[in-house]
Amino acid sequence: MLNTGKLLATKVGFDICGITPCKHLVVNERAYRDWLAKGYDSTLEYMRRNLDKRFNPENLVEGAKSVIVCGVSYKSPISGGYTSKDREKIASYACNRDYHKSIKKMLQTLLKELQKIYPKLEGRAFVDTAPLLEKQLAVEAGLGWIGKQSLLITPEFGSYVLLGELVINMECDQYDKPLEGVGCSECQRCVESCPAHAIVEPMVINTAKCISCRTIEAEQKKTDNNLHGWIFGCDECQNCCPYNKKAKQHTNQHFDPLFDPREIATSKWIKMSEEEFQNRFGSTPMKRAGLERIKKNIAGE
Ligand code: SF4
Ligand code: SF4
Repeated sequence: MLNTGKLLATKVGFDICGITPCKHLVVNERAYRDWLAKGYDSTLEYMRRNLDKRFNPENLVEGAKSVIVCGVSYKSPISGGYTSKDREKIASYACNRDYHKSIKKMLQTLLKELQKIYPKLEGRAFVDTAPLLEKQLAVEAGLGWIGKQSLLITPEFGSYVLLGELVINMECDQYDKPLEGVGCSECQRCVESCPAHAIVEPMVINTAKCISCRTIEAEQKKTDNNLHGWIFGCDECQNCCPYNKKAKQHTNQHFDPLFDPREIATSKWIKMSEEEFQNRFGSTPMKRAGLERIKKNIAGE
């Protein structure tokens, strides 16, 4: 199953895949609850929901035995491509078609292919929306480690990786193990580069300060209006990472950028109609924030 799963994952378009047994992620539960206790989730109310399910996939899917964790690179020339003069910066994942549908489709194809070989196999596909500790599951499945900016870092593709999981009802003959001898070591670049000082300690983000949350999530009482030119998301703590600088560009065409924010002038954004926004950006993650929010982000309101 281990090698078959990986081979099929590559065939359906993923760059990386690992398989880990379901288990209670005790250390992560402790860290997560501590993070919530400090109020670092700010307006992200959904982070407090389903705490009984979040730390063990067996609690989320009845009969779950293993998790197939898949990842695909989205690194493009926009990732790390901004200069200090650029305004209206957009996180590079948001310049692509919304990844939820593409990745779910890839996972469902993978499940069907596996079911041809293992007819009793059942599984559920998850992309980012379920209460699943997907980054830690990726670590358990040997795909990388959690960087000081709290994202998964993979040796080959850095942190410009989108994840999806298949939680399955089958035990595997072999499993992947967490990587050894890898990590951030003494590097502090992301901590030092964060313009909002949102990385309060390694792997701990205060979302009330984080520009990515402040430009997208439910609005909060403003203590700092400076978004440092970001109007949707923020890649600052990724762009500076040495692993991202040397990471390969993406190859799966589903994750090609649909536009380049560096080619859209401030005046164009300000004059943009709802119709034009829907036509140009309706299939991207920016739809979630909507044009009015983006205009507010530009104005720093
Ligand atoms: S996304 Fe931006 S604001 Fe948030 S932690 Fe990273 S650099 Fe800081
Ligand atoms: S910038 Fe340095 S500390 Fe931050 S995630 Fe990358 S390697 Fe780790």
